[in-house]
Amino acid sequence: MSRLVVRHTRVFDGTSDRAIERASVVVEGGRVREVVLGPVDPPTGARVVDGRGGTLLPGLIDMHSHLVSDLGARTYLANGVTTVRYAGNDPDAVLALRDHVEGGRTPGPRILSLGPLLDGVSPDYPDMSWPLASAAQARLAVQRLREAYRVDGIILTQKPALEVARAAVDEAHRLGLGVTGQTWSLTAREAIALGFDGLENTSRLPEAPGLLPEARLLGYRTIPERSAMLARLWAGVDRERLARVGHQMVKYETYLVPTLAGMDALVGRYTARIREDRDTRRLPAPVRRDLLGWLGQRFFGASWTRRDFALWRVGVARYQRFVRDFARLGGRVLVGTDAVKPCAGFLYHEELARLAGSGLPRDAVLRAATAGAADALGRSDLGRIAPGAIADLVLVSGNPLRRLGALRAIRAVIVAGRLLDPGIVLPSNP
Ligand SMILES: [Zn+2]
Repeated sequence: MSRLVVRHTRVFDGTSDRAIERASVVVEGGRVREVVLGPVDPPTGARVVDGRGGTLLPGLIDMHSHLVSDLGARTYLANGVTTVRYAGNDPDAVLALRDHVEGGRTPGPRILSLGPLLDGVSPDYPDMSWPLASAAQARLAVQRLREAYRVDGIILTQKPALEVARAAVDEAHRLGLGVTGQTWSLTAREAIALGFDGLENTSRLPEAPGLLPEARLLGYRTIPERSAMLARLWAGVDRERLARVGHQMVKYETYLVPTLAGMDALVGRYTARIREDRDTRRLPAPVRRDLLGWLGQRFFGASWTRRDFALWRVGVARYQRFVRDFARLGGRVLVGTDAVKPCAGFLYHEELARLAGSGLPRDAVLRAATAGAADALGRSDLGRIAPGAIADLVLVSGNPLRRLGALRAIRAVIVAGRLLDPGIVLPSNP
């Protein structure tokens, strides 16, 4: 049985509000066997990792990604992300990537799939969506996703009809699958009332009756048009109505994956920083060109006026305030990148910074990235350093409880007890 010991290190276990100093973690057969205070004599044949000056944490979890590629998988690992949930993709492509990773053909994170975006009859993202016209079709789609695609949950997005969403949620829960959403035809309150377990990204959290009539909200022709409406909804949000949404989410334990950095990347906020990012410099030239060209198109803001950009900035500030208030109420805020191109490492670590910048304490951000996410996934075997948990671990230099940026100073990544060198996982360009 393979054994590994990380010694002389600080340990953040994913669930606590502080770290244990000068500890050792013993891993056996891919799982954590024990956490020992002080030094430990390694068992015979164990691989020993010196964790001096560093912090050992559970591997990080991305709750919302679309970056399906071998290179993307390696980018994640090199950034300490050991579990990725694909939140709306061609389900065959996600299965193929999972087979690649599980078959050892490429190093990659643990892969969870929500299948395609389940949408109404004319999907906004046709290549990543399954259109659903009726409740019966919704039930069949969920059954097929579970049986043929082994999904870990489903995601409803954009404009499903109410009876379609109700049937999909009911069928998913009947089969033991979680449901998350990024709906526009349903408000957050309607989605929660239907039993959604989570809300993500551009969900319609703000309600603004009178600000934008329903016919206009649903009659958009392009994604930039809809994103501009989202900015207006947030910028003009009624704080009391929004607070009621937050309370309802807390009551029903609906989690929130705000993907703040991912959304701002789509309006062009990070283009210069991503160009200079260390991962971007390591990408093969054609991939780098594609990434930068795509960022340059500012997908959400492609047809925006200056006023739209100004409203977006106001709206995002209000979204961040909601994130803080929701977390203070006991709401579950989780970490997602919405990555489509291989800048997932930048987006992941920037999202952690954005959550901290919104007012979440650093220990709360770290729990959100680890055990908080695992619990929302119904995977109590992930996201923590505790006896019996799967040994997906990250060793970083410094102390992320003092400075979150330390999380990107990655010294070692361990997946199911196997030690990987981040420099080998994502090699530099010659
Ligand atoms: Zn998304």
